[in-house]
Amino acid sequence: MQDTRKLYVKSFGCQMNVYDAQRMADTLAKEGYVETQDPADADLVILNTCHIREKAAEKVYSELGRLRKAKQETGSDTMIAVAGCVAQAEGAEIMKRAPVVDLVVGPQSYHRLPEMLARARDGKRVVDTEFPTEDKFDHLPAPSLAATKKRGPTAFVTVQEGCDKFCTFCVVPYTRGAEVSRPVAKIVGEARALVAQGVREITLIGQNVNAFHGEGPDGRTWGLGRLLEELAGIDRLERLRYTTSHPRDMDDGLIAAHRDLPQLMPYLHLPVQSGSDRVLAAMNRKHGRDLYFGIIDKLRAVRPDIALSSDFIVGFPGETDAEFEETLDLAERVGFASAYSFKYSSRPGTPAAEHDHQVPEDVKSERLARLHKVLEASKTAFDRSLKGRRFDILLEKPGRLPGQLIGRSPYLQSVVVTAPHLHIGDFVTVDITDVGPNSLAGRIVEDVEDQGRMSDRPLAAMEA
Ligand code: SF4
Repeated sequence: MQDTRKLYVKSFGCQMNVYDAQRMADTLAKEGYVETQDPADADLVILNTCHIREKAAEKVYSELGRLRKAKQETGSDTMIAVAGCVAQAEGAEIMKRAPVVDLVVGPQSYHRLPEMLARARDGKRVVDTEFPTEDKFDHLPAPSLAATKKRGPTAFVTVQEGCDKFCTFCVVPYTRGAEVSRPVAKIVGEARALVAQGVREITLIGQNVNAFHGEGPDGRTWGLGRLLEELAGIDRLERLRYTTSHPRDMDDGLIAAHRDLPQLMPYLHLPVQSGSDRVLAAMNRKHGRDLYFGIIDKLRAVRPDIALSSDFIVGFPGETDAEFEETLDLAERVGFASAYSFKYSSRPGTPAAEHDHQVPEDVKSERLARLHKVLEASKTAFDRSLKGRRFDILLEKPGRLPGQLIGRSPYLQSVVVTAPHLHIGDFVTVDITDVGPNSLAGRIVEDVEDQGRMSDRPLAAMEA
């Protein structure tokens, strides 16, 4: 019998990393590792890094410094691994600068972790940032029933990785490589297995998810709309989402899926980054503002209750005041339910980093504050518009007070209900009675057929 070892994974960044962290944990579960929430208790610590935000690598080095100090103080022999996009981009450098690191693994090589760990235990320091020819998904084990139950009734499924768009501010095409889509049969198989374990909502993920072009069972290339249609046919899979999308890849098949599939939630994250055609061209976004407005018009025509969220970058090199005003105008015209906005920060190795006309920090800060104000106002207006609305929520976790549960609205907001008789994984119809800054309050109208239960055990057992 294998010894039990403890694993602590700290994940930074996007949903892809959350999913990858789970798949690494599933892989290492086969090697006897169980997850712990305490790094001091771990035999193996994995930092699953993100390269999108500024000074990402420096943050990894300070985290590694803390781990080194803790190891010295306690005399522990905890192994340290660095995974994710910083590992991919700076593997050799990490090994040079941080002797505490035992292994560096890029996102395409997670299935090789057991073998890498075996070598590291023999005292070798291991780096694997290759793009291997074998498909890692064929080698990553499925989660156990216990792991899926612990993660709750929602799950991510990767459908594609990499990006061919080469936006001039972005490192993803360099860290995650070219676009690769998984075959439809494998995605459907993974979704069916998750649903059989009690999952009721699946979010399809990919760096550029709607560029999906996987091989269908008929031997043809399927787009994301066709894939969603297939998944919508899985019994007991009640909700579908997908993220993150590029406006250029919102084809008619995908828009039709929003019209035809009740399982596809009426909420779409569609990054636009800027409202200025000149800036969009400089970003190499391959679309202008008219194309963006056109997509939103089409989506709203087929699905009037759809809500949008987006990403914005302010202060892109060369952005003028007038161009920034166009971004404000776009944000006001669309009326986003939610949005993320950031000051431009240069990523070494990307074309925009070399640009001569960097916008001064104080100008970026001032523009960001103005954009925040507009986005915050439209988020508040959207949230308030939900008061009195009735919809189904999927109960995902316990609330703070006894008998409380927290579910998700179709628009991903947390909805707090008092429902001591219900279970995580149940759907329930609620009327929205109150709107707070971070959550909504709901009153139960009726329990939707009890089809979502992940377990017949009471809640307390679910949490253990
Ligand atoms: S489409 Fe998204 S992931 Fe691809 S390069 Fe542009 S910002 Fe990066």
